[in-house]
Amino acid sequence: MTKVMKHLLIAGGGFAGFWSAMSAARQARELGVRGQLKITLINRDEYLGLRPRFYEADLTGARIPLRKWLVPLGIDLVVGEIARIIPASRHIQFVKGPTAVPDIAYDQLILATGSRQAYPDFVERGRVFSVDTFAEATTLDRHLRALAATGFPTPASRTFVVVGGSFTGLEIVTALPSKLEHLARSTPRITFHLIEQAPEIGLGYPPDARLYIMERLRHLGITVHTTQKGLRHEQGCLILADKQQLPTETVIVATGFTASSLAAAFDGPRDRLGRLTVDTFLRLPAHPEVLAAGDISLAKTDPDHYAVMSCQHAMPQGRTAGHNAVSLLFNGSPLPYSQPRYRTCLDLGPGDALVTAGWERHIITTGLEAKVIKTEEILNQAISPPMDITDTLAMASPVTAL
Ligand SMILES: Cc1cc2nc3c(=O)[nH]c(=O)nc-3n(C[C@H](O)[C@H](O)[C@H](O)COP(=O)(O)OP(=O)(O)OC[C@H]3O[C@@H](n4cnc5c(N)ncnc54)[C@H](O)[C@@H]3O)c2cc1C
Repeated sequence: MTKVMKHLLIAGGGFAGFWSAMSAARQARELGVRGQLKITLINRDEYLGLRPRFYEADLTGARIPLRKWLVPLGIDLVVGEIARIIPASRHIQFVKGPTAVPDIAYDQLILATGSRQAYPDFVERGRVFSVDTFAEATTLDRHLRALAATGFPTPASRTFVVVGGSFTGLEIVTALPSKLEHLARSTPRITFHLIEQAPEIGLGYPPDARLYIMERLRHLGITVHTTQKGLRHEQGCLILADKQQLPTETVIVATGFTASSLAAAFDGPRDRLGRLTVDTFLRLPAHPEVLAAGDISLAKTDPDHYAVMSCQHAMPQGRTAGHNAVSLLFNGSPLPYSQPRYRTCLDLGPGDALVTAGWERHIITTGLEAKVIKTEEILNQAISPPMDITDTLAMASPVTAL
C-alpha cells in the first residue's frame, strides 16, 4: 500500500521560517516519517535576510542563501510573492509575474511572513529611505555613496535625518557618522538629526538607560528633536512641529513595524500591530492546521509577557512551530512555546552598545564590552545558522536555548 504524502508549507524564509524548516526536518527524522512528508518553503527571494544587520555600514554577508541548508535536507524552495492564502481550501496563490508559480495546497501551514516597515503618512513615499529589507538597505547605501562621491555640496546633501527614536532608529543614527567618514574623504558641516514623536527617545528603556543613550547621542553630535507630532515632508524638506525646516536629501524612516498583510486571511484576534493570536503550541485557534511564528505571531513568552518583534523570539518560535507542525501531522507530541529570558542589545555606534536584561531592561553592560556582545555574539553568531547541516539540525531542537 502506498503511503500518503503530507505537505507542510512554510510561508516566509526569514528567521522564523528558516528555523521552522530546520526543526520540521529534524522532527521528521525523529519520528521516522521523512518518506511521508514533503516540506516546501516559500520566500520572495532565495535568501535568509539578516535584518538586524541592515543598518550596518557594510552589508557584505547580511543575507545568506537558503538553498545551502534546504537542498541537503530535501526541502523545496519556491521563490515567489504570495498574493493570497485561502484557508477554506488550504492553498496559496502567487502574484502573477514573469515566471508564473502555480497555486500550492497544504496540509499544514506555518505562517512566517514577518513584518514590514510601517511608514508614517506624512512622508513622501519614494523620497525616504529605510533599512527594512536588504533591497532598501542597499538603496540607502548607494545613496550615501553617491552623496559622498559629490562631496556633500549643498546644505540638503549634508543634512541626515532619522525619524523614529526607538531601537532601530537609534542603531541607524549612531552608525551614520562613522559610515559617512568611511565613505568620504572629508565630511564638512554634516549634521545628524533624530526625530521622535514621544517626549523622550529610547521608548521601552528605563531612565538610566535613556540617559546613557542621550549621552551617547550628544557625544556623536546628533541633534535630538522630541515631541515631534504633525511633521510635514514637502519637496525635500522636513518641517518639524516647531516649524523648524530641515532641507534634506536623506530622511530615513524607522517608525516601527506592522505584521505581514497575509495575516488578514485568517480569522481570530490580533493586536494593534496586526499580529495573530496563537495558542501555546503556536496554532491559530480558529485554524488548527495553521501555526504562526515570528513577527506575524502574537505569542506569550511566559504568563505575563508577549513576544516582541525580534529575532530573539522569531528563532525559537520557528523551532517550536516546525516541531509542532510535523508532530501534529504524524501523531507526535507538540511542545508548548515558552521563553522566559529576555534581553536587548542596542548598538550605539563605534565602540559602544547597551545590553539589558529582563522585561524592565536593567542595564547589564555598556561600552566596548557591550559592543563585543553585539558584534561577536549576536550579529556574527547568534542570528546566523551554523555552516554545518548536522550542527544546524542539532540547534533546531525546540528546547535549544538562544
Ligand atoms: C534594522 C533592523 C534591526 C533589527 N535589530 C534587531 C535586533 O538587534 N535584535 C532582534 O532580536 N531583532 C531585531 N530586528 C527585528 C528582527 O529582524 C525581526 O523581528 C525578525 O526579522 C523577524 O523574523 P521573521 O522571520 O518573523 O520575519 P522576517 O525576518 O521579516 O522574514 C519574513 C520573510 O518572509 C518573506 N515574505 C514576506 N511576505 C511574503 C510574501 N507575500 N511572499 C513571499 N515571501 C514573503 C520575506 O521576504 C522574509 O524573507 C531588527 C530589524 C531591523 C529591520
